[in-house]
Amino acid sequence: MLGLMQGQGLAISSLIDFAEKHHGDVEVVSKRVEGDVHRTHWAGIAQRARQVANALDGLGLAFGDRVATLAWNGYRHLELYFGVSGTGRVLHTVNPRLHPDQIAWIANHAQDQVMCFDMTFLPIIEKIHAQCTTVKHWIALCDDAHLPAQTSIPGLRSYESWLQAQDQQYVWPVFDENSASSMCYTSGTTGNPKAAVYSHRSTILHAYAAALPDVMCMSARDSILPVVPMFHVNAWGIPYSAAMVGAKLVFPGPALDGASVYGLIEAEGVTFAAGVPTVWQMMLSHMGPKALRFSTLQRTVIGGSACPPAMIHAFKNNYGVEVLHAWGMTEMSPLGTLCTLKNKHLGLPPEDQMQIRLKQGRCIYGIDMKIIGPEGQDLPWDGVATGDLLVKGPWVLREYYRQEGPSPLIDGWFPTGDVASIDPDGFMQITDRSKDVIKSGGEWISSIDIENIAMAHPDVQMAACIGVAHPKWDERPIVVVVKKPESNLDAATLLAFYQGKTAKWQIPDDVVFVPAIPLGATGKMLKTRLREQLQDYRLPA
Ligand code: AMP
Repeated sequence: MLGLMQGQGLAISSLIDFAEKHHGDVEVVSKRVEGDVHRTHWAGIAQRARQVANALDGLGLAFGDRVATLAWNGYRHLELYFGVSGTGRVLHTVNPRLHPDQIAWIANHAQDQVMCFDMTFLPIIEKIHAQCTTVKHWIALCDDAHLPAQTSIPGLRSYESWLQAQDQQYVWPVFDENSASSMCYTSGTTGNPKAAVYSHRSTILHAYAAALPDVMCMSARDSILPVVPMFHVNAWGIPYSAAMVGAKLVFPGPALDGASVYGLIEAEGVTFAAGVPTVWQMMLSHMGPKALRFSTLQRTVIGGSACPPAMIHAFKNNYGVEVLHAWGMTEMSPLGTLCTLKNKHLGLPPEDQMQIRLKQGRCIYGIDMKIIGPEGQDLPWDGVATGDLLVKGPWVLREYYRQEGPSPLIDGWFPTGDVASIDPDGFMQITDRSKDVIKSGGEWISSIDIENIAMAHPDVQMAACIGVAHPKWDERPIVVVVKKPESNLDAATLLAFYQGKTAKWQIPDDVVFVPAIPLGATGKMLKTRLREQLQDYRLPA
């Protein structure tokens, strides 16, 4: 027997329709690349999203074609979120912090047809457009007045002139809710990045879950500042949830320094903000010496890297702001766990509560998790045993885009590459990482790429890249090197060798020369042993 309820599929276009109809006057405020503050509202976003839809139809793009963005958080990016996916095309958000060659590789791999970019990234596009063989249309996210006088980019046009010519009416097409809506590449442990492809169904389910009270608790009374970039897992899904609940959105654009973020929070009555620890570190460092206070901020979601205890303390004790520690992945849309206390924890002394808040949190409904041991056996939820963390759920990746080889799943579970314990109350705590990567300021650095560059130097016999704790960037890479006999290679020479071969921020902070790197039985470098050997190492000031 079938249920007798209506069977409308879940569609991203329904979010923007809803936001326009029920919260049309709610503001969307953006700091722009142009330097000013732009104000619109959900009705304005909806109207221009429909113009984007008409413009894409005008380009003759097929259903499922990819439209790439290389952009900061702002209203134009938001219009593309809804306009592109709403028509059944796929929004491909590209991380501008990657090396230009990698951006070109990603655009080709995704077979992007259109590239919309903020003017900040014009130099990148000037450099790579000839390499991007599938891109037919280059759109600068500005008006005609801000276009460059001279450019080598073929047919470059401004977003504003592109939209201006379009009808404001559009009827969103109806299609299978499992159709792709957006995609995001994540730097893998080896070689080239891999893409997670989200669907309309996964995005809407994730948006519902993200808004729940024990998750990010988003509502029509909130003014939300996603500092987490819209090019990194859809800004943790906040643009979709904000449309769903009718919250005000505040976008920081390129201004991510402490003074700018603090200023925006105060000016726009922000109640809720989300970002990686590095962003909050910069903001707290700005506020402390000036004895600044928040007048509206109630809570921050901090994730992407482990949140330092001092940060939770500072927000709570100095500013009365609740920190919600969150964990997730690009492959998980991204939310997996949030750390909100249960009723029985409310009577605990503050220090005991803090021990819980430091954990990455408990599962959101929709996500299932487990930890397994070396033989694949399930480990107990006793808060002591640690093992590989596996997840599954309707917004967890099944396979990577155009990835050859076996599925990453293990009996239907996605291996996260994180090592964790889970306590009897279901609070998960990350204790280590089995994947060989370093996360600096919320962005990945592949240690293997860093090692390969060092190994290409004629004086290097062996190289191992490891992460070292850093007060601002959470982690920074260093490269540990065994020189070839007779070589007098020095650190400065090797660091200079990295120039131009990887993005500047991915270049290691230091080179440590050692006589030997510990190896396991199969000849694999034992990085755990290496980290132990270098536990007293301190980064150069
Ligand atoms: P990404 O795909 O770039 O969002 O990165 C996901 C990975 O970041 C996870 O698998 C973890 O290794 C790490 N990560 C995310 N959130 C946290 C957190 N709260 N604490 C520790 N590591 C985290």
